Amino acid sequence: MQHHSVIIAGGGPGGLGVAATLEGWHPRFEGDYEFPSPEVQTFARTHEQNPLAFDPHELLERGHRPIDFYRMRHHPIQGALPLEEWTLKFTKNDRVDWLMFTTEGPGGLWNNTPKEQMTLGPAHWMELAHYPIGKFYEQTDRDRDINALIHRNDLVPYYQAFAEELGLNDHIRSGVKVTNVSPADENIEARFIVEAVDQTTGLDIKYSCDYVVFGVGPRSSIRKLDAHGTDQNYVSLAYTHPEDYPGERVMVVGGGRSADWAAQELHDAGKIVVYVMRQKPESHLKLINESQFLPYYQRWGEILDGEQERMGLLYESNVTVFESGGLATISTNKGRIQLQVDHAVVEIGGDPDYEILRSYSDLTFHAKRDNFRFQLNQLVVDQATFESVDIPGLYPAGYSAQGTGLSVIGFHAGCFLIAGDILRKSGAI
Ligand SMILES: Cc1cc2nc3c(=O)[nH]c(=O)nc-3n(C[C@H](O)[C@H](O)[C@H](O)COP(=O)(O)OP(=O)(O)OC[C@H]3O[C@@H](n4cnc5c(N)ncnc54)[C@H](O)[C@@H]3O)c2cc1C
Repeated sequence: MQHHSVIIAGGGPGGLGVAATLEGWHPRFEGDYEFPSPEVQTFARTHEQNPLAFDPHELLERGHRPIDFYRMRHHPIQGALPLEEWTLKFTKNDRVDWLMFTTEGPGGLWNNTPKEQMTLGPAHWMELAHYPIGKFYEQTDRDRDINALIHRNDLVPYYQAFAEELGLNDHIRSGVKVTNVSPADENIEARFIVEAVDQTTGLDIKYSCDYVVFGVGPRSSIRKLDAHGTDQNYVSLAYTHPEDYPGERVMVVGGGRSADWAAQELHDAGKIVVYVMRQKPESHLKLINESQFLPYYQRWGEILDGEQERMGLLYESNVTVFESGGLATISTNKGRIQLQVDHAVVEIGGDPDYEILRSYSDLTFHAKRDNFRFQLNQLVVDQATFESVDIPGLYPAGYSAQGTGLSVIGFHAGCFLIAGDILRKSGAI
């Protein structure tokens, strides 16, 4: 059985940030920076050449959040900082022996979003600090504003360029799904056994390692709609683009941001849309009203203010059966109805695949919701290192760690806490 010091599960923004730091790209602070707290400022100045080397519990014990220590240097102001004003820099050091298994290539779930998906926030919020997105735009002759929303057709190439630029690709095994993480037997000199399956060949893979970075993302286990007939050929379990759905009448099942996106894009492409949601109208309207800073929610406002001839909204409703030929039965608060559609798109989100950790019982979770309507259970972690409180040596990265916002800008700096802890524990710094 092959052994690696660290195995990273998941090649999204969460996993990639840790990979780059373990590859040897260590942060340092340089120039004229100022933390709001004089105590933190002194810490930073003392350790500015190698902040990963000090134990961030020292900050935590004094009431400062270690993740903010790095986030404040990466995003010191609301807007994007011009490249020449960055005080967060990187020095290349020796690499740690890490290997990544990921079902998708670099970029995580952005590889599978709708074809025209834009982010909810500006491009620089999606950035991983080791390779600024402004530099990527410059190097690839993209004439873009880093303070504007970014299209997934720019974002996925950015994450791919990140892996290329920082020399990560030789250690990334794409098309490999981690199926189980378990404690290693006493006769093996390692802490974990990681089992995986190669999705192309179907072959099982088994590695041992000392540390696991768990970055499989918020959609690694897609929710299942509780309805009969979801295997009918007119039912799609993810939305892509209006052209992928022939015919005029499309039903969208969901109610969160992804379903809103699908329903609106289908509507604006000229389809007749029936949008089936479990939630009450007040709750949907609240999301629309609170999201008016986003162009596609302004458009929702226009659709609702208009005559809505091609947008039928069914609140407090559930699809119960999809029959052959496009006949769908819906249970509404006014009784049962049947509708004939050409296509149905189910967009009900997913959860992190914690089944991978089934060998560990009684995991401690933190229920997290955010203003963007994302919700999931996060693993409770040591806030100084992001090490799981239940599984020593396992580090949830990205969304699944407690104490991060549900956005890349919210969780990215966690990669320095994770990599720093692994480097200190393995004696590499
Ligand atoms: C429609 C949509 C819009 C969004 N908009 C924004 C936004 O504007 N700003 C923002 O910050 N966030 C946004 N998000 C949230 C998004 O989750 C983050 O941007 C980011 O992708 C999360 O990073 P991650 O690394 O935690 O997970 P992911 O990006 O999901 O990456 C994890 C990857 O792990 C891999 N994987 C999964 N299971 C396994 C397994 N068993 N074994 C091996 N590999 C596995 C997959 O390739 C997966 O893609 C949006 C999400 C969606 C769905």
